[in-house]
Amino acid sequence: MTGSSSILLIYTGGTIGMREDASDGTLKPFDFSQILGEVPELAKYAMRIDSYTFDPLIDSSDVEPSMWQALARLIGERYDSYDGFVILHGTDTMAYSASAVSFMLENLSKPVIFTGSQLPIGVPRTDGKENLISAVEIASAKDTEGRALVPEVCIYFNSNLLRGNRSVKVSSEDFNAFRSPNYPPLAEAGISIRYNFKAILRPSFMDSPLRVRESLDTRVSILKVHPGITPQVVRNILLGPETRSVILETYGSGNAPSKQWFLDTVKEAVAMGKIVMNVTQCLSGKVDTDLYATGKALEKAGVVSGSDITTESALGKLFHLMGESKDNEWVKARLGDNLKGEISK
Ligand code: ASP
Repeated sequence: MTGSSSILLIYTGGTIGMREDASDGTLKPFDFSQILGEVPELAKYAMRIDSYTFDPLIDSSDVEPSMWQALARLIGERYDSYDGFVILHGTDTMAYSASAVSFMLENLSKPVIFTGSQLPIGVPRTDGKENLISAVEIASAKDTEGRALVPEVCIYFNSNLLRGNRSVKVSSEDFNAFRSPNYPPLAEAGISIRYNFKAILRPSFMDSPLRVRESLDTRVSILKVHPGITPQVVRNILLGPETRSVILETYGSGNAPSKQWFLDTVKEAVAMGKIVMNVTQCLSGKVDTDLYATGKALEKAGVVSGSDITTESALGKLFHLMGESKDNEWVKARLGDNLKGEISK
């Protein structure tokens, strides 16, 4: 299955390649460019594994959209030379990066697998080795006709392969740090790697050339509604001149306070031409504004439903669509489309 494969291992930073700084005891990224030396098990696979190291290496809390553009560009440039790509990335923002990059790679027909670890690769109980080794195996897996088994942007972590734009980080300390609450795992690794073929997206034309959609417009804010939220805060976020769109993180099935000042502010934002997107704070389930009057009022005010999208994915989708067009009505119309498996239709 992995006989003549070639993989590009892209190292961006994160705990997997960190070690303790003796001066203050904190973890800092170190030059882990000799990745293969750290994980000699990889040499047992009969495949070519090249590596590319970002400079500087970062804790993923410092990830910026410019890094997603650099990643997408790198994959585009090296696309024809490799069967798959494995990206070593910090866990803190991995779900944001995997979501955004999924929207930036059009006609993807090869695996792009993000992974990392909760414990640095140098410590005896690290989860990094298994994560890295299995991610490499999945990135190189092909069917009998030589096509990639998982032509998607994914996160591999703790034996689970998850769709990147469905994933969320759910634990800062368990090895089982990621889940995709509204979508089943694409594969589970036990004695063998069991692929869930029904859940895996395949492009309609595997031979279409990859197109890298680099343009991103980052003028998005996130407003999480909460009891006690004030008119000033809502006005600042919804009406601020620097935002083109706002992700409204609502309660339950898409509900928000029914107070008149709140709805009036939402209507004012919509009247200004801004895109307001309704995303639930719940880990699983979806926005369904037909259920409660408070949700219905938002819909009537012109708020677009995000269905069961994660906040991480909503951010990447908005950055991407707004980068594609200056026309907010076009963006609003596309938000309801299932572009990369990020929402259930
Ligand atoms: N702070 C680290 C990062 O996101 C955490 C990790 O990698 O697990 O880079």
